[in-house]
Amino acid sequence: METQKKVILSVAAHGDDAEFMTGGTLAKLVDEGHELYMLIATDNDRGSHRLSARELKAVARPEAEAAGKVLGAKGVFLLGYRDGDLCDVPQSILRGQIMYHIRKLHAGVIFCWDPFAPFENHPDHRALALATSDASSFSALPLFHPEHLAEGLQPQRVTEWYWYSKAHWETNKQVDVSLTIERKIRALYAYNCQMVLTIDDLLGEARAMGVEESRLAGIDANHFEPLIDLGVRANDAKAGSEAGCDYAESFRYQTIELPEIFES
Ligand SMILES: [Zn+2]
Repeated sequence: METQKKVILSVAAHGDDAEFMTGGTLAKLVDEGHELYMLIATDNDRGSHRLSARELKAVARPEAEAAGKVLGAKGVFLLGYRDGDLCDVPQSILRGQIMYHIRKLHAGVIFCWDPFAPFENHPDHRALALATSDASSFSALPLFHPEHLAEGLQPQRVTEWYWYSKAHWETNKQVDVSLTIERKIRALYAYNCQMVLTIDDLLGEARAMGVEESRLAGIDANHFEPLIDLGVRANDAKAGSEAGCDYAESFRYQTIELPEIFES
């Protein structure tokens, strides 16, 4: 089968989800000549111990666009839902919005949270993952959301899915990201508010677990770069050691299996 340029749609609940879980793979696919678009469902507007929802909303788009630029995305789209409330959005509406982007962008490859992975504790991840799975299963069927077709869009067939999960559930594909991990980390740095939150949460958890203040004294959430760098590298080095490379990201990869009559 000939290799052709693929259109990839990364669907995430929050800015920084895709970068943390799959930034190295997305950058690598862009390097290979594929086209990347990023869709983010919420505005991260509950993701801080310091800023107001309004302040977070104001930076959601510029931060997402800056991160997308580092990874080489051709477009970044935000649905603008409230952080934490995706489970209250009717599935048919969320599914329709994701399907609209799949059809409009002619996306054939999907990256998202795994809808069937266990132990996912974030309701936004669970809701988004299921809606994305449904949207990408039905986007080729014209009777689903016919209003898209009335607008001039065409049914669109998705052929590949890269599902990721915190539990690394049922992973069957490791992608070597040794050459793109720098870009992944730089894309994460673009999410200033979310990186400050990551370190604030880490400090909060350490205190709650009784770690002495003297051991936390040198950690400043405003200067998150060294700890984020360390954390990402440690995480991806673990996947890398299983894959036989320096750094890797792992997925439950799914594609369409054709019957034998089509095999050359
Ligand atoms: Zn998230």
